[in-house]
Amino acid sequence: TLIVGIETSCDETAVAVVKNGREILSNVVSSQIESHKRFGGVVPEIASRHHVEQVTVIIEAAMTEADVTFAEVDAIAVTEGPGLVGALLVGVNAAKALAFAVDKPLIGVHHIAGHIYANHIVEELTFPLLTLVVSGGHTELVYMEEHGSYEVIGETRDDAVGEAYDKVARTIGLPYPGGPHIDRLAAEGEPVITFPRSWLEPGSYDFSFSGLKSSVINTLHNAKQRGESWTNEQIAASFQASVIEVLVGKTMGAAKEKQVKRVLLAGGVAANKGLRAALTKACEAEGLRLTIPPLKLCTDNAAMIAAAGTVKWKQGRFADDRLNGHSGLELN
Ligand code: ATP
Ligand code: MG
Ligand code: FE
Repeated sequence: TLIVGIETSCDETAVAVVKNGREILSNVVSSQIESHKRFGGVVPEIASRHHVEQVTVIIEAAMTEADVTFAEVDAIAVTEGPGLVGALLVGVNAAKALAFAVDKPLIGVHHIAGHIYANHIVEELTFPLLTLVVSGGHTELVYMEEHGSYEVIGETRDDAVGEAYDKVARTIGLPYPGGPHIDRLAAEGEPVITFPRSWLEPGSYDFSFSGLKSSVINTLHNAKQRGESWTNEQIAASFQASVIEVLVGKTMGAAKEKQVKRVLLAGGVAANKGLRAALTKACEAEGLRLTIPPLKLCTDNAAMIAAAGTVKWKQGRFADDRLNGHSGLELN
C-alpha cells in the first residue's frame, strides 16, 4: 500500500508518502515557528494562512521526493482533529480536493493516533501495549489491544506537559517553543528546588501540571523577597525532575496493572532527553520493551499520519466527502 499523509493541525504543514505503513518514501515538514515566535505562541489566523500558502507546494514536494505518481497511490490520509479548526480545515479540504481529483479514497486520522503510530515506523507494533503520549496539547496513557483500538486510561486534568514546559520557559524569559530550551538547561543544572509531584488519588493515571507550573512561578516570585537566587539551569532541572518522576512513575504503574510487555513514547515532548533517558532506565529495570521515535518523528509530521492511516485503510475505515475538521475529536 502507498498512502499519502497530510497534517495541518497546528503550525506544521506536512505531507508524506509511506509504503506498507512503515517505509517512509518522503516526509516533508514546513514549520511556521519563526512566524509565531514573536507572539510567544501559535496564532490561529496566521497558522491557517501559512497552511493555505504551503499545502499545495508541500504535496508536490513530497510526491517528487517519493518519486511516485498519484496513479500508484492507494489513499489520501489527513488529520481530521484535534487541533486548530481553521488549520485542520486547510488540510482536510486539500485532501478532499486531491482525493476527488485523482479518484482515490479518503481517510480521516486522529492526530494522536498519528503520534502513536510514529513508533510503528521505527519498530512494528506488537500488542497489548501502553503508550505515554506527551505533546503540546495532550498528556495521556493509552492502552492498545490491537491495531486501531485505543483506550485512554489516564489523561491530564488541566495543562498538557508541553504546555507546562512552554509556560515555564516563558516565565524565565526563553523563546517559544520553550520545551527544547528547558530540556537543554535542565541537563546543565541540579534539581535543587523540590517542586510538588502531582500524583493525584492513589491508582489514578490522570495527570495535572497546572499546580507545578504555579509553584515554579511562585517560587521565582518569592525568591526575591527571601533573598534566594536560582539559576535558570536549577529551575529547569527542578521542574523537569518533577515532571519526569510523575510521567515515568504513572507509566510504570499502568504497565504493571495492564500487564503489558511493550511501552511506547509519543508526541513532541518525547523529544525530551531527560524523559527519554528516565523512561529507558525504568523500562529496562522492569523488563519492558520500549520504543521511542527519533526526534523528527516525535514532533508533528505527516509520515505518522500516513502510518496510522494505513491501519484504517486495511480495516476499510474510509471517510466520505463529509469529512470535516474537528478541534475536539475523540481518539479513534
Ligand atoms: P498535540 O500533538 O497535542 O496536538 P502539538 O502538535 O502542538 O500538540 P507537538 O508538536 O507534538 O504538539 O509537540 C510540541 C510540544 O513539544 C511543545 O510544547 C514543545 O515545547 C514540546 N517539546 C519539543 N521538544 C521538547 C523537548 N526536548 N523537551 C520538552 N518539550 C519539548
Ligand atoms: Mg507543532
Ligand atoms: Fe502533535
